[in-house]
Amino acid sequence: MAKIFCVANQKGGVGKTTTTVNLAAGLAKLGQRVLMVDLDPQGNATMGSGVDKRSLAMSVYEVLVDGVPVRQAAVLAEKCGYHVVGANRELAGAEIELVQLPQREMRLKNALAEVEGDYDFVLIDCPPSLSMLTLNGLCAAHGVVVPMQCEYFALEGVTDLVHTIKQVHANLNPDLQIIGLLRVMFDPRTTLQQQVSEQLKSHFGDKVFNTVIPRNVRLAEAPSYGLPGVVFDPSAKGSQAFVAFAQEMVDRVQSMDSQVNKTNKANKAKNAANAG
Ligand code: ADP
Ligand code: MG
Repeated sequence: MAKIFCVANQKGGVGKTTTTVNLAAGLAKLGQRVLMVDLDPQGNATMGSGVDKRSLAMSVYEVLVDGVPVRQAAVLAEKCGYHVVGANRELAGAEIELVQLPQREMRLKNALAEVEGDYDFVLIDCPPSLSMLTLNGLCAAHGVVVPMQCEYFALEGVTDLVHTIKQVHANLNPDLQIIGLLRVMFDPRTTLQQQVSEQLKSHFGDKVFNTVIPRNVRLAEAPSYGLPGVVFDPSAKGSQAFVAFAQEMVDRVQSMDSQVNKTNKANKAKNAANAG
């Protein structure tokens, strides 16, 4: 069954899309079956996977608003090794149209339920807002990956997101958890970045991923070739970091699963003891 993750942060330009497409490509490299869903009307994750957002026959808009099946809207990003449900400007209108639809927060979740056997990972690239689109992402997901730059206001920015995630967890999606904070565009020579990085670790503990994504120009160049950095230049430092991050995600998912199994076993044993 697919594990579904949102890549979210309400700030723009923090590395969400870069994280989504490179994690997708990294997971595909590791042999995982991956679907990438673009929930941002800018369509950068779509274009950055080599899928032309202007010539999509079906996009995530039709999935959310018209109930078109994911299998019908998904296309293969051939060079990247994963499937894409793309987005374009049309999606901006969905924000308003969704409001009047039944189960408006659950439309993506319901749509993804039909393909949960087809993939190991579904990654959702969220827009830079806490909107109805992001809410659909958060309601569909088991976990949230939060990319962040180690800058002065980083902690403050993440507080709003943590608050939203807690509310969604309490009211709409009890499965939802923050899988982790990913330090991106990191420059180890900057003292301030090191300090903020340490602060993050002491504040969030093991919720901070071990892998750190460095600032790397090859990652920034890759989108203009319609490729994730991991595919465009596999030997670049940034690409290698994203493959390491993909492995860390695979490991986290395994430990999430074994945690669930342990709890189930313990509950079964408890029930059996009570029954006996
Ligand atoms: P978001 O999706 O949060 O708006 P993007 O992933 O589009 O953020 O990143 C914003 C900009 O920063 C883009 O131009 C991208 O190419 C660049 N960028 C992202 N991560 C890195 C990195 N590790 N090194 C260098 N440039 C990066
Ligand atoms: Mg983006």
